[in-house]
Amino acid sequence: MAFRVLTGLFGHESNAFSRLPTAYANFEKYLLAFGDDVPAKIKGASIEPAGVELAAEEYGWELVRTVVAWATPSGPVAQDAWDACAGAILDAAMSKGPFDGVLLNMHGAMATVEYDDAEGELLKQLRAIIGPDAPVAITLDLHANVTDLMTEHADIICAYRTYPHIDQIETSQRAAAVLDRTMKGDVKPACVTVRRDTIEGLDDGRTTTDNPMTTLLKRAADIEESDSDVLLISVQAGFTPANLYQAGPTVSVTGNGTDPKFRAIADEFMDYAWETRHFDSNTYLSTDETVAEINRLLAEGRGKGPIVVADFSDNPGSGAYGDSTLLLAGLLKADFDNACFGTICDQDAAAELVAAGEGATVTVNLGGKVDATFGAPLDLTGTVTKVTDGTYVAQGPRWKGVTHNLGPTAVFKVGGMEIVVASNRVQLTEIEAFTHAGIDPRERDIVAVKSMQHFRAAYAPIAREILICDAGALSSKDISKLPFTRLRRPIFPLDLD
Ligand SMILES: [Zn+2]
Repeated sequence: MAFRVLTGLFGHESNAFSRLPTAYANFEKYLLAFGDDVPAKIKGASIEPAGVELAAEEYGWELVRTVVAWATPSGPVAQDAWDACAGAILDAAMSKGPFDGVLLNMHGAMATVEYDDAEGELLKQLRAIIGPDAPVAITLDLHANVTDLMTEHADIICAYRTYPHIDQIETSQRAAAVLDRTMKGDVKPACVTVRRDTIEGLDDGRTTTDNPMTTLLKRAADIEESDSDVLLISVQAGFTPANLYQAGPTVSVTGNGTDPKFRAIADEFMDYAWETRHFDSNTYLSTDETVAEINRLLAEGRGKGPIVVADFSDNPGSGAYGDSTLLLAGLLKADFDNACFGTICDQDAAAELVAAGEGATVTVNLGGKVDATFGAPLDLTGTVTKVTDGTYVAQGPRWKGVTHNLGPTAVFKVGGMEIVVASNRVQLTEIEAFTHAGIDPRERDIVAVKSMQHFRAAYAPIAREILICDAGALSSKDISKLPFTRLRRPIFPLDLD
């Protein structure tokens, strides 16, 4: 008899301090399908459910598919989205059982308007339906805030091991391998999760350089290899702008049984994370410093490929608004030639530019609409050089095969700067965000992207140099102004050094 496995993806990284709600429509704009429509929706996409499908084929499981849902990070998830997506999982658990196991793909830093710890709540409600016996495996983003509630109701915890995240399929497969052994009765997994008094650390989980994160990931792989009772070690860097008591970096060990050595491993890993909490591999430049550094590099002569500037603090991928004008204004003032900027999310400006049409010279009020403290709107005159419907299939390793939807989009050329003005908030991780609009970033001298780290997957291979600009928008490294009310205190770096 084939094992029956309940599965689904419901993921969101919720920024508690974002003014933007995350409603059902936001999932529709990014990735959303239910039940039997799931396989067609994820075909060719390098995301977690594709790994679940591969595992089901390998182990001969019968999958009960519920939902795949993902949206760009923004404020807490609204009730309509929670009811539809969590509802699809819980309804199937209720009506389509019994199950031999559960394999859920989650982010691990979701909050809803009702729950600070949405994944913990979902797992608790699921457990109440399926009972204590069926093993529950969850996959997580490397930036999950793993809580005690999540740990209590999951038997197997398995997070990504890359940032930029490019191992979604493998993460599902690693979790599936342990789940299959569990359903066969070979192992009896249990999880422990350990944290320290910090909401930062592990170099924010970056795996593009040698740092505390890669050190722990190597150690994790070695221990899994040498100790057959250690089924999985997951290292989570955490997600800072969460108004959650247990936010921050964690280590979760999935052991075979409840030997105290599993907690000892997690403790040792988190001691190291605490000791190395100050480590940061990025050099953060202000807007002025960024302009000066670009001028210095240009004075050295043209290198191979563009200077890529990350607009770190306005990364929609961490819940920032994607319409901050702080960096854009600085670059425009510097009057660079052969430059492009992606994207400014401004639905009204995009509509005006699209309506004006290709070739039109127009003046628009651009950006800064959600919160002008992160850069006031700019009145800019330029030419519309391209109009698109904003859709492209990602080809970079981060979202390969996933169709991105910027909504009605225009390229607005102001001086030597081509600005991609989009209607939907999407982190700029892909070359195709530019090429679909007729801009080849490989041929530009300066390419600015609203992303913190994920852009490196597609842009590091083409960049002459990468600069990180923290212009002071919502996702700035300076978190001292964020109004945390439910986070445990005292904590690093707010109260402790
Ligand atoms: Zn992440």
